[in-house]
Amino acid sequence: MYKIMTPGPTQVAENVRTARSRVCTNPDIDTEFVEFYKETCELISSLLFTKNETYILDGEGILGLEAACASLTEPGDKVLVIDNGIYGKGFADFVSMYGGKPEIYHADYLRTLDVDALASYLEIHHDYKYATLVHCDTPSGMLNDIGRICPLLKKYGILTVVDSVSAMFGEPVRADDFQIDLLCGGSQKAVSAPPGLSFVVVSEDAKNAMKNRKTPIASFYANLTTFFNYYEEKWFPYTMPISDIYGLRAAFDNIAADPDILKRHAIIGSAARETLKAAGLKLHLESGFSNTVTVFDVPEEITADAILKEMKEKHNIMLAGSFDEFSGKVIRIGHMGANATISNMIETFTALDKVLRELGVNLKISLPEYFLKFTY
Ligand SMILES: *Cc1c(COP(=O)(O)O)cnc(C)c1O
Repeated sequence: MYKIMTPGPTQVAENVRTARSRVCTNPDIDTEFVEFYKETCELISSLLFTKNETYILDGEGILGLEAACASLTEPGDKVLVIDNGIYGKGFADFVSMYGGKPEIYHADYLRTLDVDALASYLEIHHDYKYATLVHCDTPSGMLNDIGRICPLLKKYGILTVVDSVSAMFGEPVRADDFQIDLLCGGSQKAVSAPPGLSFVVVSEDAKNAMKNRKTPIASFYANLTTFFNYYEEKWFPYTMPISDIYGLRAAFDNIAADPDILKRHAIIGSAARETLKAAGLKLHLESGFSNTVTVFDVPEEITADAILKEMKEKHNIMLAGSFDEFSGKVIRIGHMGANATISNMIETFTALDKVLRELGVNLKISLPEYFLKFTY
């Protein structure tokens, strides 16, 4: 068994695993399950500081992103796709798949989105039904300031679809204050449940946009409106994955019982960055560091594969490389959710220190010692 220190899926606590083994009822006809589902959705909404309704969907993180786009997009709709990372750019595919016209707003992949530059752009171009953006673009660890970006878009009446799958509960999200219309999350990142579920928080404006469509939504599975009356009608569009939802609830109960969760992520995130810099390694980004994942460049003299292999085979720890244009160039340490403990990080840095030295990298400090000093 490996210790997974990847930016999702993350480690799953024992009480979450146990919750998944509870005796099952029939979720289609047992109204107690409908109550449980509703309470769980309300708990998620409250943890995201919103009065908006949450729906848990039976599919991993990607389903939420696709459902948001499928439910909003009508043929010909113009959609602003904010792209300063791989997931950011990826939204364009969902938009065009459902007949929309994505307009890509491309920005630097090494720096957090320049909100002032976006504001200037919007002064001239603002004829969009909605915009898509990513809170933490995980392949590079890029954090965007959704608390400034969403209200700016909303000023022009542009609805927002925010992918916070790998940021929420590791970075602050206040959905109402941030004026987010569709907020997407997944079970397997900072939430620290196994992969398999996504959830979407839907504003009244977004609901109205879906209800007022002139054309039908070109999907059943990704149609969010099928959930709107589930509670009144005691009916779900498909059989709910009851055991997964029992596990998800336990994971959210853990988050609710952990008032220091954001502070812990902030301490671990900054300590990880300071440690790598002090050692002489290079952080991949120039700005926009998410406290859920730390990404550093692979030193020139060695390869990402060698680091990952040694970490796994000699130390039983899985770190992640990355993909697309980042493939082979960076290593990612996922310190979100249940991964985000000092002891996990010490263990990881102890192993990484050995591996890098054995591969011939000259580290200027001891990774675990520096990290520990920085966190206390
Ligand atoms: C993990 C992740 C998703 C969901 O993708 P999976 O296929 O479930 O891993 C969506 N967006 C971001 C930014 C993610 O990091």
